[in-house]
Amino acid sequence: MGSEEFERVREAFDTNWIAPLGPHVDGFERDLQEYTGVAHAAALSSGTAAIHLALIILGVQRGDYVLCQSFTFSGSANPIAYMGATPVFVDSEPDSWNMCPAALERAILDLKSQGKRAKVVIPVHLYGMPARMTAITEVARRHDLYIVEDAAEALGSTLDGKPCGSFGDISILSFNGNKIITTSGGGALLSNRTDWVQHARFLSTQARDAAPHYQHSQIGYNYRMSNVCAAIGRGQMTVLNDRVEARRGNHAFYEQSLSDLPGFSFLPEPDGCFSNRWLTCVLIDPERSGGVTRETVRLALDAQNIESRPLWKPMHMQPIFADAPYYGNGTSERLFMNGLCLPSGSNLSETDLQRVVKQIKTAYSNHD
Ligand SMILES: *Cc1c(COP(=O)(O)O)cnc(C)c1O
Repeated sequence: MGSEEFERVREAFDTNWIAPLGPHVDGFERDLQEYTGVAHAAALSSGTAAIHLALIILGVQRGDYVLCQSFTFSGSANPIAYMGATPVFVDSEPDSWNMCPAALERAILDLKSQGKRAKVVIPVHLYGMPARMTAITEVARRHDLYIVEDAAEALGSTLDGKPCGSFGDISILSFNGNKIITTSGGGALLSNRTDWVQHARFLSTQARDAAPHYQHSQIGYNYRMSNVCAAIGRGQMTVLNDRVEARRGNHAFYEQSLSDLPGFSFLPEPDGCFSNRWLTCVLIDPERSGGVTRETVRLALDAQNIESRPLWKPMHMQPIFADAPYYGNGTSERLFMNGLCLPSGSNLSETDLQRVVKQIKTAYSNHD
């Protein structure tokens, strides 16, 4: 947080706009629309809430099927369960680590052969790397599916020059504390459809009918962003591009320093992709590293009080989704087995980065 954020929060206090709604909410929505080029945005309490509302707006019903990238954070998939729908998980492809368009089509055709039809697909730009949206959109259009684009980790990334967050019929963002920019907690729903975004605002404020008293004809939710959080968000938007530069700088430093280690590789940036490099992710292949595993490195860093983490555990491997259908060929399992997120904060100094690099190299040489 910096002075830009503080100035705007002070303004919220000075004008006594603390409640949900207020000028900063409108302003933050405009900032998001301008940055992504999407016509309408609704600022909400979380990214998970945004996905939940997207599924309601697109008409997902109890008993429906919703296709979802398996290699993701549970926030992508939990709203499917809120709806009483069944998630159908789709594997990743090895270039972007995101949804494999061929596996998606296989899932759709197999569901069809069982007389089941999915209405919605949720691709994710994991770790800020754009998914193969051209191919995914082509498959979705051919099978009459809506796309809910989970861009929670990808604000500041682009695909063929077009911002992540602008590819879905509905797109969602997250401003949780760990994301590239934050409002402490928050999210947004974006769409070019005026009626859908208006519907999201209506549902997120308890679905109150137009009447002087409190009247409700639909179940509502308390999912709106507050004016104070939006004030922080407006300040954060002014530093978003600096944050992306810092994260990309972390990645470049690690890549330059560690690419020579045997069996050590980085999440590639495929042609046409510009990633915000939210987190720097690596794979350690024990068959080529002389037996060093991601756990060797994670534990060696941990012993030096340096936190690193395995990649997201795929949803089809989660106890909670054990019964859900899954279409894949082992890519996301392999990524989970061999993958590690390195320290990636926007405020890491070169000394910090050097320290991490040194400990990883030491872990390798101690293993010999
Ligand atoms: C963080 C995240 C979400 C959920 O966002 P919240 O604001 O934390 O609810 C959804 N999907 C992905 C991929 C995320 O990383």
